[in-house]
Amino acid sequence: MCRHLGWLGKPVSVASLVLEPPNGLLVQSYSPRRQKHGLMNADGWGVGFFDGPIPRRWRSAAPLWGDASFASVAPMLRSGSIVAAVRSASVGMPIEATASAPFTDGHWLLSHNGLVDRAVLPLSAKAESTCDSALLAALIFDRGLDALGDTVVEVAAADPNARLNILAANSSRLLATTWGDTLSALRCDDGVVLASEPYDDNPDWQEIPDRHLISVIGRDIELIPLKGS
Ligand code: GLN
Repeated sequence: MCRHLGWLGKPVSVASLVLEPPNGLLVQSYSPRRQKHGLMNADGWGVGFFDGPIPRRWRSAAPLWGDASFASVAPMLRSGSIVAAVRSASVGMPIEATASAPFTDGHWLLSHNGLVDRAVLPLSAKAESTCDSALLAALIFDRGLDALGDTVVEVAAADPNARLNILAANSSRLLATTWGDTLSALRCDDGVVLASEPYDDNPDWQEIPDRHLISVIGRDIELIPLKGS
């Protein structure tokens, strides 16, 4: 499954989160350490960041390691709210830039690490792609991010095999769920990182337990259990 990462804090470069760490998303694209499903994440990548209240994105359907232009420009992309992902497409899903996270509704950036049966999701003209994650993102945007936990529990009830690790940010808040896959948090002096897996061996990384909602505002991390059946 995919790997994703979010940052909320002082402005930092996209390169410092994605490319420079010894086990950052770049390395996770070909050699993830905690991936339970799939071997590598070569089916695309995306970075999104807030420029004031405006979400901006750069997405691709190619492997992250092959993109020389991104490597050149990423040190100049700086923001205090960033969502990035590398993708391992689920079987049957299209491989196209619009299927790479992060998705947006113009206010939030959102990534999905997991799998959900598209039959349990409503068709939406607002979905950016026909892949499961884009349909799920459209549903979550439609319900509102304040209902993220309820929406995840509801989708999981409709598809008990679903894996629903969501990561979403606006310019002042980071939200995530754990439902079937890994997520870790790191509190730094300048902000908070949430990531599918630690990007280095810093002992301060904390594993988030499964079936939780994580809300980050400033440097405060709130952990709320999600009740599923
Ligand atoms: N199911 C989603 C896709 O195909 C997410 C895949 C993943 O988490 N690896 O893109």
